[in-house]
Amino acid sequence: LLAASSGWITGLTAASLAFAESLPDEIREAYADDAARILGAALLSDTAYETLGELCDRFGHRLSGTPQLEACIDWSAQRMRDFGLVNVRKEEVMVPVWVRGEESATLTAPVHRPLSMLGLGRSVGTPPEGIEAEVVVVGSFHEMRSLGRERIEGRIVLYDVPFTSYGETVRYRGKGAIEAAKLGALAALIRSVGPVSLDTPHTGAMRYDDEVEKIPAAAVTIENATMMRRMQERGDTLRVRLTMGAQTLDDALSHNLVGEVLGSERPEEIVVIGGHIDSWDVGDGAQDDGVGCVISLDAARLIHELGLRPRRTIRVVLFTNEESGMAGGKAYLEAHRHELAHHVAAIESDTGNGLASGFRLDVRPRMIGLDPETRDADLAPPQKEELEAVRGVAKTRLETISPLLRPLGADMVLLAGSGVDISPLVKEGVVGLGVHHDTSRYWDIHHTAADTFDKIVKEDLDRNVATMAIMAYVLADMPGRILDVEFPATP
Ligand SMILES: [Zn+2]
Repeated sequence: LLAASSGWITGLTAASLAFAESLPDEIREAYADDAARILGAALLSDTAYETLGELCDRFGHRLSGTPQLEACIDWSAQRMRDFGLVNVRKEEVMVPVWVRGEESATLTAPVHRPLSMLGLGRSVGTPPEGIEAEVVVVGSFHEMRSLGRERIEGRIVLYDVPFTSYGETVRYRGKGAIEAAKLGALAALIRSVGPVSLDTPHTGAMRYDDEVEKIPAAAVTIENATMMRRMQERGDTLRVRLTMGAQTLDDALSHNLVGEVLGSERPEEIVVIGGHIDSWDVGDGAQDDGVGCVISLDAARLIHELGLRPRRTIRVVLFTNEESGMAGGKAYLEAHRHELAHHVAAIESDTGNGLASGFRLDVRPRMIGLDPETRDADLAPPQKEELEAVRGVAKTRLETISPLLRPLGADMVLLAGSGVDISPLVKEGVVGLGVHHDTSRYWDIHHTAADTFDKIVKEDLDRNVATMAIMAYVLADMPGRILDVEFPATP
């Protein structure tokens, strides 16, 4: 799997580092005025706020396969043209189609009461009459396995797992059904993946294993999950009736939307900025990820309207189908493989509208000539060192730009976690950047009916637009690329 990487990187690292060290003053001098103009214009503008409000109110949620998603993509294309972007086009993507149907969950013993629930995306449904069975509440996969098949078989498992971090807790949503089915469970319920609740169940994608029986899976609220745990601890036997009309239909045609601010000197070189235009089928997808789309759109609008002509092209990409399959991100890579080496960087905003404090940087093993599927954990010590050196160069370069973001409090540079839509590009060696938003309130409403426009704070939005615009503009305009490396050839 791991081809030996070439020796070119050593010389390159030294050269790039020397260049990076000479850069801070140049960057500050060259771009301080432009950055101040961008920030001033962003704070004075109502356009981003009004665009996002209209997007949410007119189209509502935008699940893959729905007409409102496609209508929203067409409307966004018109906004791109209105904003002065060029080469505006839709690129075809086939997307999976999952429909929720009618659904409900009811506690039938020890007392009768309805439960607030949302089926998990991609789940199978139940038979029309539903499933009624005893519920076993567990706090972890480990606890469930220790109970063994005799306690789980023929029952409904409820994972009552408190939220620690999204990455940690979301495992129960992702593979909870698989692990419960391995022990013969009839259905899986999860405590919603979020830190607090106002009776808000959270949906989100789950998955199946072709080797394991596919059982229905749904999320209940924190209120209901903790109540059921208390009942079990009191020695009560719990029963739930779960009815879900969920179905997966044939794939449907959707689109990535692309528009550009054309580069003045090297138009073939590209900085991608974007978010995903699809959402789950509850709420309005305001924070996830209408806001990422609007931040990108408005950043491009500002750069264009201020008459800034970056040397390279800034390409806005509104990806489709992030939530239920990542088909948009994969399709963008395939459609643009021929110009992969011209992608200077890809920047994504997909963690809501909390005030950005900086950027997350990804440089993957492909960048040192290794197979795209290589993970950090697979690296031998010399390769690890080599990759760290390249990451160090990119980080240093980024830190020469980030002082421009200090007035916004957005000058932090962190490693890893740039974004899902750009991850296929990043795997192939493109430098990935993710806007690092404050997520302290984001997970509360993520994938819920409460993800609506009223929670968008205008000043935060305007500042986030400025952060994206300044970073995109400088990366597109600065004399050298963030990594001046020969792009890795296809292995
Ligand atoms: Zn998202």
